[in-house]
Amino acid sequence: MHVRLKMILGVLVLVIAAVIMLPRMLNDKEEEPEQPAAEEPVEVVEEFQEIYLFTTDYLNMRTGPGTENEKVRTIPVGEKVRAIDYEDGWYLIEYNGQTGYSIEDYLSELLEEGEPNPESPEIEAPEETQEEEDTGEIMKTIDGILLVNKTYGLPSDYYPDVNSEAKQWVEQMITNAKDEINKEIIAFSGFRSYNYQKKLYNSSVETDGEEYAQRYSAKPGHSEHQTGLAFDLGGQMKYWLEPEFADTEESVWLAENAHRFGFILRYPEDKENITGYAYEPWHFRYVGEDHAKKIYEEGIALEEYLLGE
Ligand SMILES: [Zn+2]
Repeated sequence: MHVRLKMILGVLVLVIAAVIMLPRMLNDKEEEPEQPAAEEPVEVVEEFQEIYLFTTDYLNMRTGPGTENEKVRTIPVGEKVRAIDYEDGWYLIEYNGQTGYSIEDYLSELLEEGEPNPESPEIEAPEETQEEEDTGEIMKTIDGILLVNKTYGLPSDYYPDVNSEAKQWVEQMITNAKDEINKEIIAFSGFRSYNYQKKLYNSSVETDGEEYAQRYSAKPGHSEHQTGLAFDLGGQMKYWLEPEFADTEESVWLAENAHRFGFILRYPEDKENITGYAYEPWHFRYVGEDHAKKIYEEGIALEEYLLGE
């Protein structure tokens, strides 16, 4: 009796154990095939949403995602690029018809018109008192030429975008440079909005100090780029916005030929006291062929031509 009871209890324990464990074991088996299924969504590459980004410093575009890859070109500060893809700190970007990889550190998300992104706390929101400090006369046109300099400015809402005629002629000039000296010239800065210029100027003051900023950068409302008639030009890779650009074949050709396409070298070497800006061998302003030819032949600055200074 005693032994039978033990046996019955033993069987009972086994049955209970089986009842508890069996569904678990079955469950485990059922879950197994699910595991590869769970991994599947990870393998599906999420499509990158294309965005526009702005360069916050000179930025190298490379053939691959890593500094060991060859440099395709350098992109100047403040340029808008199209980000096509992103992986491990590198964006695949498109700029001026070229595609390559750039490190994320110097690319920033801003609103399209150069407005600081309000969600980005490190960028100050634009103040609205700036215009009141500006005592310069606005929208000065002489002889059909819009004069913008440290004295004459533009209203903050003046937003013409790139002038189509000027754009057509800059493209023609680039084509001719290729034909005549076999050099690739790039127009990398055209129209800039008031607010975008403001950001550039403030950043120049912060980086290089007020004195430097005044020589090389215009205060908002006083940049020729806001007219949509000015371009910064450069060679394929080197000396973007650097005085050394003057010694390149591209620069020499531009200085001697820009007038044929209606452009003038706006800030010549020996005219800083007249234009208010240091020599900028890269900055060209569209004034039309007739005016450009006269200005070139007389070797004068736009201020001298228009104001007889
Ligand atoms: Zn410029």
